[in-house]
Amino acid sequence: HGEASDVIVNTPNGPVHFCEHHPLVVIAGPCSVENEEMIVETARRVKAAGAKFLRGGAYKPRTSPYSFQGHGESALELLAAAREETGLGIITELMDTADLEVLGEFADIIQVGARNMQNFALLKKVGAQDKPVFLKRGMSSTIEEWLMAAEYIMAAGNPNVILCERGIRTYDRQYCRNTLDLSVIPVLRSLTHLPIAIDPSHGTGWAEYVPAMAKAAIAAGTDSLMIEVHPNPQKALSDGPQSLTPDRFDRLMEELAVIGKAV
Ligand code: PEP
Ligand code: MN
Repeated sequence: HGEASDVIVNTPNGPVHFCEHHPLVVIAGPCSVENEEMIVETARRVKAAGAKFLRGGAYKPRTSPYSFQGHGESALELLAAAREETGLGIITELMDTADLEVLGEFADIIQVGARNMQNFALLKKVGAQDKPVFLKRGMSSTIEEWLMAAEYIMAAGNPNVILCERGIRTYDRQYCRNTLDLSVIPVLRSLTHLPIAIDPSHGTGWAEYVPAMAKAAIAAGTDSLMIEVHPNPQKALSDGPQSLTPDRFDRLMEELAVIGKAV
């Protein structure tokens, strides 16, 4: 049982606390950074709605090698343009230890994705640097395995870890991409001081189910939400079906404000 302690992330707009005793932190943006116009437009819209961080993948862990793999370093430059424009903090995924140095120049928070939750070499590397780490739960990982992955980062010297539930392997893929395990919220609260985030976008796989699960996550006590938003989901290069339009995201943010924890 730890004391609630925050992960504080400095952004151009000021420090943001991921903590039980602070407002909900909303992270929003597209699955992948596609071009400058879409990332800057999305950043403006999610900032106006109350998000504190912009997400967007530069290096994408795609199931098929023939799917869009992300624009890499040039996408990091586009995230920097969006950061400059809006003051939002940037969170983006690191897949390869070789990219850590360049990614660290652009990211305010480094994401370790579900598929790399037990990539111990990667965990040790992000543990040996200063940027906070957003550690997604592996798609078939137990809570113990997830917490031990966080320990790898902390044991290497970095105490700033945020745990993100993004849905675990489901046997009912016909209806949902994953099973979003909201029961981890009270369980983690009893086991660790680390802040908790919920990703209802990957958790369900369908935009129409995202609002209900976002609200449920707040009711259950999450500290943060990660939500995929795309200006034109039908044309998205990845994860379009689960991405909210900016207009739908606006409405969701208004709906979230009445659940409890102020946004
Ligand atoms: C993502 O955030 O776009 C992503 C690939 O997430 P996950 O690792 O949870 O699948
Ligand atoms: Mn995605």
